[in-house]
Amino acid sequence: MNEDCIFCRIREGALPAHKVYEDESSLAFMDTSPVSEGHVLVITKDHYENIFEATPESLAAVSNTVAKIAKGIRVVFSPDGLTVAQLNGSAAGQTVFHYHTHLIPRRDGDPMDLHARGQAEPDKLAEIAAKISGALD
Ligand code: 5GP
Ligand code: ZN
Repeated sequence: MNEDCIFCRIREGALPAHKVYEDESSLAFMDTSPVSEGHVLVITKDHYENIFEATPESLAAVSNTVAKIAKGIRVVFSPDGLTVAQLNGSAAGQTVFHYHTHLIPRRDGDPMDLHARGQAEPDKLAEIAAKISGALD
């Protein structure tokens, strides 16, 4: 556990999050500043800063969870597309230095943004998290 890391604190339950799914090695929860409705993050449970530090096993766990969540998002939102993005280093736009992947549902014509400014309403995030969670195989 890295005390200064917000995602480690979420994993520990020290910070709240709207969880969608977890297994032994990965955890999925709603992004609090969603680029679009249904923006989910999937993190490694262990703290790795980026793809260069993460173990093959932890990367595989995140990848499996990403595929599972992607299907849930498709059931709930029927988006025209789905961006799966993972950023390494501030030069690539990474802002939280704990390995994670974004799932961002897209509508035709949406800008290709990876970050948003505004925070979503917690109640709305809770509702979406429950819907996606309920749509997982
Ligand atoms: P990065 O830029 O590192 O790829 O993405 C970090 C993401 O974490 C951003 O989309 C940001 O909105 C999200 N984020 C930052 N702080 C929190 C937080 O405390 N809780 C949640 N759920 N997401 C966060
Ligand atoms: Zn961490």
